[in-house]
Amino acid sequence: MCNHNDYEEDIKQLFINNSQWVDEINQRDELFFSNLSTQQTPEYLWIGCSDSRVPANELVKMDPGMVFVHRNIANLVNSGDMNVLAVIQYAVEILKVKHIIVTGHYGCGGVQAAINTSNPDLIDNWIRPIRKYYQRAKSGLKNLSTDEQVDRLCEINVIEQVRNICYIPVIKKAWRDGQALSIHGFIYDIKDGHLHNLNVTVDNADDAEKAVSRK
Ligand SMILES: [Zn+2]
Repeated sequence: MCNHNDYEEDIKQLFINNSQWVDEINQRDELFFSNLSTQQTPEYLWIGCSDSRVPANELVKMDPGMVFVHRNIANLVNSGDMNVLAVIQYAVEILKVKHIIVTGHYGCGGVQAAINTSNPDLIDNWIRPIRKYYQRAKSGLKNLSTDEQVDRLCEINVIEQVRNICYIPVIKKAWRDGQALSIHGFIYDIKDGHLHNLNVTVDNADDAEKAVSRK
């Protein structure tokens, strides 16, 4: 059992931080929260990794209300995942976001695990698609160090998710209806804090296949 006092302190800190955060925002803009409470009109849907070192809003300096966020281990978009599909549908059809950004990060533990030996657990089941990407890319990666292989696979994983998004019926319909919607692939470097564009942006159905297969 955990020590009662220990966890009380940890949790108390969150509320202290929250009050400070509210004060800071109110000092900057006293109408911020009242304006925000009436609506959300984010232009971006961010699909990123759950890794605690890759905070969505923070690293692109975006205030609350500006980014609709979905995060899971290794930023995957699986066609059988109701959660991510519902997020994408809501973002595209209701919020009408203009950009969907898949953001991976170098040194991703989920991607790393997909290179290693398989384990019969839930996480292994979740990252199974990455094992498939690795098998496909393996011969081209063999001259790289293990870390370089992981980083290259992190990039490949992002590109594959951009491709997966292009095939979701909601996305195809949005493009067919003339909705302005671009899908992007970014990668974040935990070592220096910089975000990089993988330049695999797709903004229409015709370009979907050729744009993502270039890389
Ligand atoms: Zn990760």
